[in-house]
Amino acid sequence: MTYDKAQNRTRSLKLWRYFWVAIYALMLLAPLAIILIGAGTGARRIEREFLRELSVMLGFVGLALMGVQFVPTARLPFLSEVFDMDRLYALHHGFSIAAFGLTLAHPLFLFINNPYTLQLLNLATAPWRARAGVVSILLLIALTIMSVWRKSLEIRYEFWHWMHTFFSVAIVGLALYHIFEVDYYTSVPAQRVLWWVLAGVWSVMLLYTRLIRPWWMLKHPYEVTEVLRDRGDTWTLVVEPVGHAGLTFKAGQFAWLVIWKSPFAISYHPFSFASSAEDPGRLRFMIKELGDWTGKVKEIPAGKRVYVDGPYGTFTPDHHPAPGYVFIAGGSGAAPVMSILETLADCQERRPLWFFYGNWSWDTVVYRDRLEDLAERLNLDVIHVLESPPDGWQGETGFITDRVLARRLPDTRQDYDYFICGPLPMIDNVEAALHTLGIPSGQIHSEKYEMA
Ligand SMILES: Cc1cc2nc3c(=O)[nH]c(=O)nc-3n(C[C@H](O)[C@H](O)[C@H](O)COP(=O)(O)OP(=O)(O)OC[C@H]3O[C@@H](n4cnc5c(N)ncnc54)[C@H](O)[C@@H]3O)c2cc1C
Repeated sequence: MTYDKAQNRTRSLKLWRYFWVAIYALMLLAPLAIILIGAGTGARRIEREFLRELSVMLGFVGLALMGVQFVPTARLPFLSEVFDMDRLYALHHGFSIAAFGLTLAHPLFLFINNPYTLQLLNLATAPWRARAGVVSILLLIALTIMSVWRKSLEIRYEFWHWMHTFFSVAIVGLALYHIFEVDYYTSVPAQRVLWWVLAGVWSVMLLYTRLIRPWWMLKHPYEVTEVLRDRGDTWTLVVEPVGHAGLTFKAGQFAWLVIWKSPFAISYHPFSFASSAEDPGRLRFMIKELGDWTGKVKEIPAGKRVYVDGPYGTFTPDHHPAPGYVFIAGGSGAAPVMSILETLADCQERRPLWFFYGNWSWDTVVYRDRLEDLAERLNLDVIHVLESPPDGWQGETGFITDRVLARRLPDTRQDYDYFICGPLPMIDNVEAALHTLGIPSGQIHSEKYEMA
């Protein structure tokens, strides 16, 4: 893509971003409209205290916030084209905490307004509408604890993901039942319609995530053609489409892989494409052995059927036109950089490029030979930074710091865009180093290898 074309594209993506933010805001504010519609109307309406109304409003907004969480996590292609996944997930985490606070405030204000309502907490005697509300909130508390402290509680990712889905649906379903049973802000037809529209949008998102997309993936399988060993406990998985043309992606994007299970199971693992976007018929993924799932990749036989859900992400030069690029990666964070470099080489790119590649030792540098070849084909400077260098090593050592970057980059460094990928601590440190060097935040793009 030419520089001008890419700039036009960036502008149009920005407009789309505003559009979707407006839709999202509308969905969040819809419950307030439901309250306004009802003000002073409806046969069952009685005068209610301010604290009680406030409590209802907080509960409604909390529920709306929870419901719209089905949108950013649905991995809708048109949204992931516009927003980067990191931001969508960060939004999901932030909004979920806000939803938790607002929803919890709902019963608290009710109790303050009228302490007599505390007896609704007794599940044995409370009416069904109160039981549904109480159980919904208990599940929300459990879900929040499991999500915030998943790692300290040593909950396995797959189990957590399954519980997360189940709890979310139960929480929203029970909350809706509670609202309809209380039947105060559902007494006017327009209110009921609005609730049904909201619930409909949330359900469609869920159906898309759990049924429609998995079904599409089942009909568009891939097959493993090779599993190649590389350095540093890393494997290259090569897959090809079976009976279909495959997907097209932009260099730097990622996909979710499903290998030992059906696409209907909740067992998706994200991996960056490591191959050229110019050759979408043969996808390569660079996978580092880290845990249960990645540890089994080496055992995959050729011919094994797998599923690829993608592409996702905006970590790609296509979205960020610049006169030159600097890539900074650690370990398996090199995967998207390899895809970008391979693609640029296939497109005979001549813009200046730098790749700062941090690794533990020379023996753990994955794709070393490919990088040498790419440096010949591109205007590329590869700078290896080793924590434990071999004897006689003349290159950079330690971590990728502002000093290393300043030493190796020209004075024009503020003109370029920076792509950082790898473990969270590395990303944080490199972002800080780039800020020290005066690189504007808008020119720094990061791909975090962690979502939950
Ligand atoms: C956008 C993105 C792109 C990635 N690209 C690559 C790549 O190209 N090469 C590479 O080696 N690694 C990549 N990763 C990391 C890779 O997805 C995890 O290392 C892998 O899923 C861990 O699985 P495991 O069961 O073997 O390890 P575990 O020990 O079970 O998990 C280690 C940690 O990885 C995370 N994780 C586990 N399962 C998942 C999952 N299903 N979805 C999201 N996170 C999970 C959790 O935080 C967990 O604590 C990427 C991650 C993201 C978010």
